[in-house]
Amino acid sequence: MKYATKILHNGNERDPHTGALSIPIYQVSTFHQDDIEHPGRYDYSRSNNPTREALENTLAALEGGTRGFAFASGMAAVSSALALFSHGDHIIATEDIYGGSYRILTKFFNKFGLEVTFVDMTDLNQVEKAIRKNTKALFLESPSNPLLKITDIAGAVELAKRYNLLTLIDNTFMSPYFQRPLELGVDLVIHSATKFLGGHSDVIGGAVVVGSEALATKIYFVQNSFGAVQGPQDAWLVLRGIKTLRARMELQQQSAMAIARWLQGEDWVEKVYYPGLPEHPGHELIKVQASGFGAVVSFKTDTPERALRIMRNVRLWSVAVSLGGVESILSYPARMSHAALPKAERERLGLTDNFIRLSVGLEDAEDLMADLEASRK
Ligand SMILES: *Cc1c(COP(=O)(O)O)cnc(C)c1O
Repeated sequence: MKYATKILHNGNERDPHTGALSIPIYQVSTFHQDDIEHPGRYDYSRSNNPTREALENTLAALEGGTRGFAFASGMAAVSSALALFSHGDHIIATEDIYGGSYRILTKFFNKFGLEVTFVDMTDLNQVEKAIRKNTKALFLESPSNPLLKITDIAGAVELAKRYNLLTLIDNTFMSPYFQRPLELGVDLVIHSATKFLGGHSDVIGGAVVVGSEALATKIYFVQNSFGAVQGPQDAWLVLRGIKTLRARMELQQQSAMAIARWLQGEDWVEKVYYPGLPEHPGHELIKVQASGFGAVVSFKTDTPERALRIMRNVRLWSVAVSLGGVESILSYPARMSHAALPKAERERLGLTDNFIRLSVGLEDAEDLMADLEASRK
């Protein structure tokens, strides 16, 4: 079966009890047990809920994993994955990791003795140099946010295997439609389902998918004991969003490419970051490890004043955090997602005050370009 068909037909698309073509929202906390000696498949919704289960099985099918887990948010998914580690363990994470992941590693998990080193993952030599005796895992994000740097996933997996480390990846920017890291040997995939999986800016959610039963047992233990599960209403919204994943990803990518190419030719634009452009340093790599480039485009304007003017004047684009929705969003990392970083650290990473990130939605690309063109003046 081709992947596009699998998105809609993976064994989880119909309610097994009624045949309904949309999985009902099982808005329930607990389940009657006919036989106390032999508890049923469902007993309590933190442990398992039919709506959430349909989403979890769909996620597993789409990522090519043994088991999927749905969480209350992307950060609940990240935190539950990090809860696999113990006091005294060390992990290596990519330096331009999602801001919330950076925060939870440096301000929360550090309290429990989990050590972390941030490195530029595009350079596997740096990763290898950071490995210590107590290193347990590599935490990748590719493409990274918002610089869209590409990590060699298979190369990182090969390095991790040599040192007996787990590999975790945040696959939010690509979605399983464009990139399936488990097929490249990664152990655990994380998503913010709030973004492309949900796709409609109407739900907060997260996911973890693993490739082995052993890891599935461990994540299930965390999910059930820590309890950061996704509620049935929200799980249903993600399930519904996934049905149009292919159509959204294809069209949004097409517009992202058109906008990136147009920006490249504008004299008020200093630099464009989009892995779909042949000039992008990770272009050849992403072509090997993914089947698309996604719908996030970043760029630098000639001056910080211009960036601020665009933000004030845009009409079609929403100025907001988040990405991956059907409506186009423009964001300003210096004051939004990365405002918590000291200015010097921001500038070292390249997130200067003229840096803008675009999440391209489903509007007509020409209208989106015209809006940027009108607002820059
Ligand atoms: C948004 C995001 C998260 C966090 O997800 P929430 O659903 O907001 O908790 C994690 N990683 C990436 C790459 C994200 O874009």
